[in-house]
Amino acid sequence: MNEKNTKQPILGNGRFAPSPTGDFHIGNLRTALLAWACARSTGRGFHMRVEDLDERSRPEYCLRQLEDLAALGIDWDGPELYQSQRIDRYEEIFTSLLKSGRLYECYCTRKELASVASAPHRPPGSYPGTCRDLTESEREAGREKLRGTNREPALRLRTDALSGELVDQQLGYYCGAIDDLVIRRGDGVFSYNFVSVVDDAEYNVTQIVRGDDLLPSTPRQMHLQDLLGYPNPVYAHMPLILNQAGARLAKRDGAVTLRQLAELGWSSADIVELLASSLYMGEAGCATAGDVSAAVSVSVSGSGGTSGAGAGTGGAGAGTGGAGAGTGGAGTSGADMARKRSGIRDTATFLNVFDPAALPREPWRVNVELLAAGPAVWFTD
Ligand SMILES: [Zn+2]
Repeated sequence: MNEKNTKQPILGNGRFAPSPTGDFHIGNLRTALLAWACARSTGRGFHMRVEDLDERSRPEYCLRQLEDLAALGIDWDGPELYQSQRIDRYEEIFTSLLKSGRLYECYCTRKELASVASAPHRPPGSYPGTCRDLTESEREAGREKLRGTNREPALRLRTDALSGELVDQQLGYYCGAIDDLVIRRGDGVFSYNFVSVVDDAEYNVTQIVRGDDLLPSTPRQMHLQDLLGYPNPVYAHMPLILNQAGARLAKRDGAVTLRQLAELGWSSADIVELLASSLYMGEAGCATAGDVSAAVSVSVSGSGGTSGAGAGTGGAGAGTGGAGAGTGGAGTSGADMARKRSGIRDTATFLNVFDPAALPREPWRVNVELLAAGPAVWFTD
């Protein structure tokens, strides 16, 4: 680990950016592990950024989250970055945006936004521009409407583009809506989109690996990067974990946090092995330690498809075995694959066999009841 940390991250940094509003479940841990491995395997640094601007954030959750990551063997460079300590910097950039005339006040209530967001002809969650071109007297009426509430007008960015596209390293081509996104919310808090874009740029984050629930926000964030003169990082959005019913895994689904699983007999090493297995790592055909240097250099450019080809030729078939498993090769379902022991029980070994081109592109559906039975029952071999 020390040897890695002394390398200059000339390719910039990866990052993981948790919100300390509760304990992680295994889906969060899986995404963190993937973000870490993608950064480390490409010679990037790795930053831990605590997104603690939300009023639900608690220092005790932050502490527990960082403990969980460390327990799995995920490390990061330098001290954690706390967004709550960066308000002055956000204020500066916000002020320059304000002076540029690109921001306008929005008086819409949450209820009003919810009713327009559900309109059938609009992409979900996009803003229809209600307050974009109001007259001064209409603006005054909007301010009057909010008077007596504890909210100020939100400030939105006037955007020219309607949509934006990217080639995601994991999911391929994506085109999504760009709307007039909120820069500062009505409660005075800077928006997630704004501060994450600023932080990524100012901390030289060149690779963003995160859950695919954030894919629809990505064209907006890239638009903001362009506007602020920041380079676009590469993106890899990872399919999330689903419960047995096919819904996104949540803590109410059962014992899914590291602490809950520890009580059921899961050690940190078991969890690493579980997560590696869920990614079909350690199967026949996956990279061995010697293949890694060839396999890891591919994720800088191009789609997942071309990366896979690169890994396959450079790494003696490193990418092809895992990719075959990921698409359901050899007649084995993803759920069954995830129950075979990978033998990968620590993050150093995980990194040695990690091949970003061979990651599954479909979500992992996990049987939480079976998980609760412990590793001795979960693993089938
Ligand atoms: Zn509005």
